[in-house]
Amino acid sequence: MTMTPRNAAQRNGIGMTSLRTRHSMVERLRASGIRKQEALDALAKTPRHLFLDEALAHKAYEDTALPIGKQQTISQPFIVALMTEMVLDSEIEVKKMLEVGTGCGYQTAVLAQLVNWVFTVERIGSLQCQAKALLPQLGYHNISYLNADGFDGWASNQPFDGILAAAAPQQVPTALLAQLRVGGRLVIPVGDRAVQNLRIITRTANGFAEQLREAVCFVPMLRGQTG
Ligand code: SAH
Repeated sequence: MTMTPRNAAQRNGIGMTSLRTRHSMVERLRASGIRKQEALDALAKTPRHLFLDEALAHKAYEDTALPIGKQQTISQPFIVALMTEMVLDSEIEVKKMLEVGTGCGYQTAVLAQLVNWVFTVERIGSLQCQAKALLPQLGYHNISYLNADGFDGWASNQPFDGILAAAAPQQVPTALLAQLRVGGRLVIPVGDRAVQNLRIITRTANGFAEQLREAVCFVPMLRGQTG
């Protein structure tokens, strides 16, 4: 990924990376069932092509996951929009969020447009460094970054109004439940490498309420922190 400063022309893109292509992606997301206008607006404003290697930029507005190095992938736009909608549709106002699995920072950028502050944790140091360099260049400044194991959440900044995980553990991490504010939602894919489902877990006054949702395909949530 190149790390030159981003000017307006680069943000707007040309041809397969143009604003028009991005807007047609958003119209397809709407047709696929994404209803929250704020989420669609945020995706419309986010230059996904700049989060990818130049060789893949022409595929940026197709609804697919793509490689970002280190055996990781940028999430599919439909799933980014769906999880964003799920985490924001809670009974409390979501101002402060935790994201587990920064990756290239695309989902982080979408969330940063919709809440006051995003705390994002990534276990792979080199991916975290790239996201931390790119996001401010694109104008997203309300983000704190941590290179650590997201199974542990980010205890010093809890509680969070919402938590979104972009990698799939086999069981829901207890630290994430503990760091969620009452009324807030944890949106997380749970399962093994073959079968995963999104879960929406809402913290209630006396426990947790869980909804099992779409089958999805995420990279595994792995223990430990690495370069
Ligand atoms: N939303 C990101 C998704 C990246 S893929 C994007 O669109 O780019 C999921 C990311 O989760 C990977 O970067 C992976 O390294 C990270 N991850 C996996 N296990 C983790 C853990 N325990 N803590 C933090 N990040 C983790």
